[in-house]
Amino acid sequence: NAPVESRKFEAEVAQVLRLVTHSLYSHKEIFLRELISNASDACDKLRFEAIGRPELLAGEGELHIDVSYDKDARTITVRDNGIGMSREEVIANLGTIASSGTRRFLESLSAEQKADARLIGQFGVGFYSAFVVADKVTVLTRRADLDPAEGVKWESDGEGEYALASVELPARGTAVVLHLKPDEDEFLSGWKLRELIRKYSDHVAFPIRMPKEVDGKPTDEWETVNDASALWTKPKSEISEEDYQSFYKSLGHDFNDPLAWTHNRVEGSQSFTTLLYIPAQPPFDLMLGGRDERKGLKLYIKRVFIMDAAEELLPNYLRFVRGVVDADDLPLNVSREILQQNRQLERIKAACVKRVLDLLEKLAKDEPEKYATFWKAFGNTLKEGIVEDPANRERIAKLLRFASTKSQGAGQTVSLDDYIARMPVGQDTIWYITAESYAAAAGSPQLEAFKAKDIEVLLMYDRIDEWMLGSLTEYAGKKLRSVAKGELPLDEADKKKQEEAAKAAEPLLKKLKELLGERVSDVRVSARLTDSPACLALSDYDMAPHLARLLREAGH
Ligand code: ADP
Ligand code: MG
Repeated sequence: NAPVESRKFEAEVAQVLRLVTHSLYSHKEIFLRELISNASDACDKLRFEAIGRPELLAGEGELHIDVSYDKDARTITVRDNGIGMSREEVIANLGTIASSGTRRFLESLSAEQKADARLIGQFGVGFYSAFVVADKVTVLTRRADLDPAEGVKWESDGEGEYALASVELPARGTAVVLHLKPDEDEFLSGWKLRELIRKYSDHVAFPIRMPKEVDGKPTDEWETVNDASALWTKPKSEISEEDYQSFYKSLGHDFNDPLAWTHNRVEGSQSFTTLLYIPAQPPFDLMLGGRDERKGLKLYIKRVFIMDAAEELLPNYLRFVRGVVDADDLPLNVSREILQQNRQLERIKAACVKRVLDLLEKLAKDEPEKYATFWKAFGNTLKEGIVEDPANRERIAKLLRFASTKSQGAGQTVSLDDYIARMPVGQDTIWYITAESYAAAAGSPQLEAFKAKDIEVLLMYDRIDEWMLGSLTEYAGKKLRSVAKGELPLDEADKKKQEEAAKAAEPLLKKLKELLGERVSDVRVSARLTDSPACLALSDYDMAPHLARLLREAGH
């Protein structure tokens, strides 16, 4: 027998294992989804590598995933004939935390300890979820391009160490064997496993097979238990709501239903299919401000998975979108570098943007409640598009929602179109105020004169607003202006009153200017105020006070 080497898990793995076993007990069954998803990834990778080296596929028939169980041994086995792993890969993948997203997630936890199962499911603890139901896991794997003698056996009880040994494995690919914990017998059932596969993995594009059963006993004959087709290639009329939802869940590692989706096929000089989803909640990396962890939009070329290509297929401000793009006409051997300068891809990207904006517009119009959910989750991300995507600025601006002096509370429900519809005749400006919080905006003395005149003011209190407004100076032919800048439009009677007041106050103004000296550029009589005696105002080219403070804090 080959010598067995014992190795320690990286410290973070122990942390993940603890976290996973503690947080997933109410979602135990996702271990199967995760292991099948890894098997499916492995099949995808082999098919991709085989584009240039067809010999890798030899000898094994079609790519598939086999799930079986053994009641006496109390084991469940998930086996694939995909790419497999070399010894180095086993050490790197099953002994450390490779993903930067996972690392960031772990770091965030110390600050905010609430790790709910939803987040954990999303950040793809994947493999380690096996230890939720198993007290020992054995992995047998051999890389497709290595000899049978170079098989690897990995085994661990998930307590801090794992054992590695060399084994002879005639078949390529990976088998994961779970030795179930004493009270997990419910999974030793062909019925239960089939149910879980249909629930979570029906749309995995490879056949998932289980042994046929006769009188409740597994036989030697295999049958496919999932749908095993690429969902997006089917005609829309053959896809049910549930199909779309479960496909999303397996794609996005999300427990929740998506908010909306759009499925389109473009035929012509360039043909491609897009299936794009909007999640109902932000994934953890978006909440942490993550930018480089851009998974969730998969590029296929003629049904072959090529790579995660969210960055190539979507602008940054739509990074919450999940889905699949399947192109017919791209060369199969594309690299990321080629993709980045590919003109066809530019066109597909523009189509994706259009589809998503269409979908959001439709949602805003037909399902305002869902749109409100979207806005809460991703509104601030979408705002980046005002700056980032000038070509679609007007469309994005239409999708913005704000709090206002004519809406209730801090909720952002008022669109620019709502505002314009309520404008009295003669008003040609969309007025807004920016502040650090809703309370500061709503309570600002700057609003007094506007309230007195019944002019609506949008209340903006998100950090990103000031930056966004730098690129949003006009909408539907109306200027956007801050109430803190410039002068309020006055009618004739007001003008006269103000002139008289200014005259009467001249000695006071003189005195105040002397007293305040360098600290102000001017002291003026204003029509802004009705209740407060004085306020600070900015000239058109001044920076908003809270922005100035932010910059000062940042050392500018
Ligand atoms: P993720 O799938 O998000 O990368 P996992 O924890 O599920 O994270 O898996 C970690 C890594 O282990 C995978 O990225 C892959 O490299 C490797 N791996 C896991 N299962 C398999 C498998 N069945 N075949 C080949 N490689 C695998
Ligand atoms: Mg995985």
